[in-house]
Amino acid sequence: MLANPAGANGTVPAGADTIAPEELINKLAIPAFVIDRHHVITHWNQALAHLTGLGAEQMVGTSNQWMPFYSHPRPTLADLIIDHAHTEQLEQFYPAKYHASKLIQGAWEAEDFFPEMGAQGEWLSFTAAPLLDQNQQIAGAIETLVSISARKQAEHKLRESEKRYRRLSVTDDLTQLYNARQLRREVEHQIKLCTRYDQPMALAMFDLDHFKEVNDTHGHLFGDEVLRGFGSIIRNNLRESDTGFRYGGEEFILLMPFIDEQAAMQAAQRIHNAFVNTRFTTPGEQSLSLTVSAGVTRLYPHDDYDSLLQRADAALYEAKNSGRNQIVLSRTEQQKKSGKK
Ligand code: GH3
Ligand code: MG
Ligand code: MG
Repeated sequence: MLANPAGANGTVPAGADTIAPEELINKLAIPAFVIDRHHVITHWNQALAHLTGLGAEQMVGTSNQWMPFYSHPRPTLADLIIDHAHTEQLEQFYPAKYHASKLIQGAWEAEDFFPEMGAQGEWLSFTAAPLLDQNQQIAGAIETLVSISARKQAEHKLRESEKRYRRLSVTDDLTQLYNARQLRREVEHQIKLCTRYDQPMALAMFDLDHFKEVNDTHGHLFGDEVLRGFGSIIRNNLRESDTGFRYGGEEFILLMPFIDEQAAMQAAQRIHNAFVNTRFTTPGEQSLSLTVSAGVTRLYPHDDYDSLLQRADAALYEAKNSGRNQIVLSRTEQQKKSGKK
């Protein structure tokens, strides 16, 4: 039991059991300030002094509430409350960053980044509420501010690692091209797009020639170097809308939306030329050039992923059977029957 604050005559000394508003505000662990109807600061608590590095003795009695947050004078959320600001003004000063408080009637909440604060800027979540007089008129406003920089940083890190993971899950480590998993997704997407907009589309399937022999003779590591080399040739020859994939071990696909089969043949030829003219140095210091075969096809009406790839594969098979080191343009069944090339 606490000692009775009442004096011997039973009366309570004035102020003994009332807690001053200053004390309440000061001991609140949430940074807060209060302004009156003339926008003059009446309270600036210890937590806010700690957050901003500006003490009550400097701030109370001034209208410098903008100072810790902005590089130039402008209204804070509390000032906008005093001015009975409408949504247009809120939108002007806190574009798409504010909403009405669910907790306190007439209060607004916002989240923003303050680049001027601290060494690296500060993310704050803040709420300003009107303080009413006995006539229910706005006599002042209280603003509370909470640093959410740690949460924002954690969210940013999570987003970055998700992005990295997504990138890793669709790319091939060795060549940095997209992997087979991404191939179906991307081809199906482009088939839809090109069909909808009535655009041509073409695809080339490459397979390095006698690659097993290259591995067997010069080692798997040398084989990897050749695959990396072919991957970078593909990457260097991509147009804006093209995508390159490592489809299997030494099989690659170049997806070319918006171009016809003649342009696709030229693109495949460029890659073929670049590869056969590249010289690789084997572990035995031998200078070696290799060859590649390819099948090219275009998108026909009613094609899906499987029919498109099957045709490219058949053309590639033909290239291999005709002696390798060449590019074959697929012929439709119709052309094959009529014996046309
Ligand atoms: P063809 O001209 O008919 O295509 O003959 P090929 O020897 O290239 O064909 P095959 O499919 O028999 O051999 C492919 C070889 O590719 C077999 C495998 O050792 C090699 N390979 C597959 N993936 C990798 C890889 O990641 N690194 C290396 N170094 N070799 C790989
Ligand atoms: Mg192969
Ligand atoms: Mg091969």
